[in-house]
Amino acid sequence: MSRFWSELVGALTPYTPGEQPLIEQLVKLNTNENPYPPSPAVLDAIRGQTGASLRLYPDPEASSLKAAIATVFGLDAASVFVGNGSDEVLAHTFCALLKHERPILFPDVTYSFYPVYCGLYGVAYRNVPLDETLSINPENYAADNGGIIFPNPNAPTGRLLPLAAVRRILDLNPDSVVVVDEAYIDFGGESAAKLVPDYPNLLVIQTLSKSRSLAGLRVGFALGQPHLIEGLERVKNSFNSYPLGRLAIAGAVAAIEDEAYFERIRRAVIASRELLIAGLASLGFEVLPSAANFVFARHPERRGGELAAALRARRVLVRHFRLPRIEDYLRITVGTDEQCDTLLQALAAILAIPA
Ligand code: PMP
Repeated sequence: MSRFWSELVGALTPYTPGEQPLIEQLVKLNTNENPYPPSPAVLDAIRGQTGASLRLYPDPEASSLKAAIATVFGLDAASVFVGNGSDEVLAHTFCALLKHERPILFPDVTYSFYPVYCGLYGVAYRNVPLDETLSINPENYAADNGGIIFPNPNAPTGRLLPLAAVRRILDLNPDSVVVVDEAYIDFGGESAAKLVPDYPNLLVIQTLSKSRSLAGLRVGFALGQPHLIEGLERVKNSFNSYPLGRLAIAGAVAAIEDEAYFERIRRAVIASRELLIAGLASLGFEVLPSAANFVFARHPERRGGELAAALRARRVLVRHFRLPRIEDYLRITVGTDEQCDTLLQALAAILAIPA
């Protein structure tokens, strides 16, 4: 038992999720959830499920959801994979497409789940440093590699890589699978999904957790040419034939189909983000340009960890990472305008107290 523990389980370094407090009355700007509820059509679709239907297993292919997603992106259903949140889609991607004898590449400042999947599946990796503006430079992705993954916009920086730069990484790496994790793309970026027909090595991953306000339903998906999707299906079917339950499938289809609601919420979050950036700048923060539903900011005279703790004492949660290069930054989710005002007022009060 002790050998098992130390050699297998003890060697894993799991991802630490952002805090999900059980008490209410907090301004929760720490895990990039959408401040608005999902489309009312989602709740109607979930309520429309019956006891007779829930008695039965769901469709293992989630065909209705794949068809709805395929329609939005102008692809065939054979180019769509769905899973239990994009975290699960990512996990299957590391196992099916990125497990390689040569190291895979991802940025040194990025989604902290990537090294966790590498640890779990025994994937070697090499971090590619962001440039001095904390941006991805496509020319740094030319080295021999076993695959490439990066979020676009990157997390936690919020910085966007223009589609031409994504294309450059693909062109530099025709023999590697290139995975673009687009969890936040709907808040200001151009999706690489339109490149799928041209690039047999491209996999695009998206989620319903952010722009569709469905973090609680756990639905994510991948878009790629059928041979890549087939790889993901094989791993999924070796693991869990039914990753999505009937409630998740019904709710997700309704969310994908309600384009008008999606547009409205997306625009509201983008407008609030611009107000938040202006408010932080007026308090003296340096704020990176953001194409996401969060901003990444630091104050030239204050430590990030201290600001996060002081905000917490005022019942405002933001995310702080104790990591090299970014330890003075706060990652702040865009809330409603009212939530953003509460945050800005709390920060103004904290900054008025001498450090
Ligand atoms: N990718 C990135 C870059 C993220 O920040 C997140 C959210 N933490 C995810 C994927 C996973 O999101 P979900 O599992 O909710 O789809």
